[in-house]
Parts: sequence; C-alpha cells; structure tokens
Amino acid sequence: MKEIVILSGKGGTGKTTIVGSFAALAQSKVLADCDVDAADLHLLLSPSERQKSEFWSGQVAYIDRDRCTECGLCQELCRFDAIKDFMVDPVSCEGCGFCSHVCPVEAITMKENMSGYWFISDTKYGPLVHARLGIAQENSGKLVAAVRQQAKQIAESEGEDLIISDGPPGIGCPVISSLSGASLALLVTEPTLSGMHDLERVLGVCRHFGVPVLVCINKCDLNEGNTQQIESQCLSQGVEIAGRVPFDNIVSQSIVQGIPVVEYSNGTVTQEIERMWHTISARLRNSSKE
Ligand code: SF4
Ligand code: SF4
Repeated sequence: MKEIVILSGKGGTGKTTIVGSFAALAQSKVLADCDVDAADLHLLLSPSERQKSEFWSGQVAYIDRDRCTECGLCQELCRFDAIKDFMVDPVSCEGCGFCSHVCPVEAITMKENMSGYWFISDTKYGPLVHARLGIAQENSGKLVAAVRQQAKQIAESEGEDLIISDGPPGIGCPVISSLSGASLALLVTEPTLSGMHDLERVLGVCRHFGVPVLVCINKCDLNEGNTQQIESQCLSQGVEIAGRVPFDNIVSQSIVQGIPVVEYSNGTVTQEIERMWHTISARLRNSSKE
C-alpha cells in the first residue's frame, strides 16, 4: 500500500484544492484529512457520515466538591491558573497532575479528556477519514495518527492500494505525525518570499524523515522571478517539480460550488493538475518496484 501526503509550509497555498482534485483523479484509494485543526476537505467532497467516534487524549483535573475543604492550596500552586473558586477550567488545565498530589484530602482526580471526534464517511470518490479537534484542544499529532491508522485499516479491509492524505500546515508535531512512514510527500508552495522560506523548512523535515519529495508551485505565474528561484532551489537539492499550476479564478469558483476543480473545468489548471497526477502516479508505481 502506498501513501502520499500533501503538505505546505503554511495554510492557504491551495493544498486542499490539489487534494480534492487528486481524489477525483485517482482510481482506488482512501482519503485522509490530516489537517485536523482546520479540516476542510469535506467541504469539497460532500461526505455522508458512516461512523463517528470519540477521540480521548490527555487528562484534566477534576475536584470532588464533597471532599474539598476549600483550603485553597491547589489554586495557589497551579502554575497555569487553571483553578478558580475550587473548580478546574478544563481549557486552561494542562493535565500535569500536580494539584492531585498536593491536595491534603485527595479531592482531586485526573480524568481522561474527550478532545474531539474522528469520522469515517463515504464520498463519491471513495472513503474519507476526517476529524474534528475540540475547541482549544491540543494533541492534534495524536489525532492525526488516529486518522492515518483508520485510513490504513479501511484501505486494507476494502482492498484499496493508495491513501491520499491532506496534511496539516507548518512543520510542527502534526506534520511529523502525518509524514512519518509515508511513501511520498507533495509539497505545495506559491511564489512568494514566505512560500519559499516555508518550502525550505518543510523540505528539511521531509529529508530528516527520509520521505521522498515532489514539489508543486501553485499560482506559478503570479511572480515568475520567484517561481524560477524555487525551481533553482529544488534543482540544487535534487527535488523534482511535479507541477506548475497557474492562477485562475476558476479555482475559487469551483470551491464555492464545492466541486474539485478538475471536475468543474477542463481549462489549463485542470490540465496541469492532471499532468501532475500522472507524474505522481508514475513515481508511486516506480517506488513499488524498488
Ligand atoms: S487542595 Fe484539595 S481541599 Fe484544598 S482547595 Fe484544592 S481541592 Fe480543595
Ligand atoms: S492538573 Fe496541573 S494544570 Fe491542571 S489544574 Fe492541576 S495543577 Fe493545574
């Protein structure tokens, strides 16, 4: 089984547009939205929910008011100021457990925290695993791991040989969680100074984890000088540019309609994305033979 993860150094580079189009172009696959802090792939794929599961992660303190003598020690000592009026604010509580050790009457216990949901849904393009992290909840790296694990199980049980993952932005823990063990990463960037900087950082992460990389320059015609600079930057590191997608308002129109652009138009953007998908498919096929 192969897994391609689509990443960008930051949000807003058009990553989900590319993933939505791959969903429409790829034959036998499972889709995974690993951008759990701002999941939006479902907006393009109109999923119908098959299964919803709770995601439990981390701990929060809980005060038993019947036992508490209101001595105030826990409030005084909690360095995150998470206890007020002898009640724990679950959003501020970091789950360190210190208060439960200092309470003289053992009124504080640590409880598992329900920090979000993950879903298995059906789309016209195949199964989609996605998730929603609760407000102000952390541990998105763990939730990403859970989404990938589910996608893998579905692919195995349904006989699909490819997972296409929409990865999180940035280079933090969720990105590492989405990347480790993937067959290939496609890095979507745009020809801006910040895009070039972010690309360099995410390339470093991929190199560190030994994941082969291809690059897509989105809106490549908005600054041809910067596009050339990205091309030289990639060439010098032996990284292939798999696609150069021009700017076109048709992309925004397709998003508003909730349709992957490759199904919405047969213009230049679609042709470029199709060409890029052929390059990626060939790379994935060749990597199976290695
Ligand atoms: S330390 Fe224990 S007894 Fe004291 S205020 Fe906190 S919960 Fe109540
Ligand atoms: S577990 Fe840690 S952060 Fe949470 S209330 Fe207790 S001392 Fe504060």
